[in-house]
Amino acid sequence: MKYIDPHIHMVSRTTDDYMAMAQAGCVCITEPAFWNGFDRGSVEGFRDYFLQLTEYEPRRAGKYHIDYYSWICINPKEADDPSFAREVISIIPEFLESQRVVGIGEIGLNKNTKNELMILQEQIALAEEYDQLILVHTPHLEDKLKGTRLIMDAIGANSGINPDKVLIDHAEEHTVAEILDRGYWAGLTIYPNTKCTPQRAADIVEIYGPDRIWINSASDWGQSDPLSVPKMRFEMKQRGHSEELIEKVTYGNPIEFLSQSEKFNYYYE
Ligand SMILES: [Zn+2]
Repeated sequence: MKYIDPHIHMVSRTTDDYMAMAQAGCVCITEPAFWNGFDRGSVEGFRDYFLQLTEYEPRRAGKYHIDYYSWICINPKEADDPSFAREVISIIPEFLESQRVVGIGEIGLNKNTKNELMILQEQIALAEEYDQLILVHTPHLEDKLKGTRLIMDAIGANSGINPDKVLIDHAEEHTVAEILDRGYWAGLTIYPNTKCTPQRAADIVEIYGPDRIWINSASDWGQSDPLSVPKMRFEMKQRGHSEELIEKVTYGNPIEFLSQSEKFNYYYE
């Protein structure tokens, strides 16, 4: 069976990972712009990164028959200096023209500061202006519930944004109900340590149902697992769930959400 990993940072992964993912059934990925493990010192550093996400990485994925799309933004961790963040935002529109870019992301909050919130609002406005999908990163651990609410309030305050076109990622047991209730999509991230395990993600799908939920690895340069989506699929299989249900959350749902972007032309087969 095929699957999609709709949130993974392949710029931080090896080509062996592409090979292993392809062998496990991965046919398509989307890669959000994020904090690369260090603060970039100039706007040109971001420009090179955005070029990597729109030109180089799609070709590398293509060698393993994996269809590749990306999201562009300045991430919350590097958005605490407003004048620098605005310079980066000023170069984003040229990358939104790329046929590989499906939206603005992953935007959100890191330490929930005023500056971060202001830059978040400006990037939400950018998504509205250019009619882009939005992918949201929610903070970790104890700040998660508060940060998730602050972000949803900021998006909700912009009446030009359709909640159907927004996915709030790294949802957990205590945030998923509110995300879905407010009309957004929810992402469950499977991580070896923090975030969800395959078992917890399967529990959440059992409790809240399979609609408007996608599963991803958010695999990056840290301790993470590029094969965590197939591991979640196996967990669901072990529990006796149907192939149809497993396919819906790990293949059909990402296609349904992403197809709202006219750039996304991976069709359900
Ligand atoms: Zn991420």
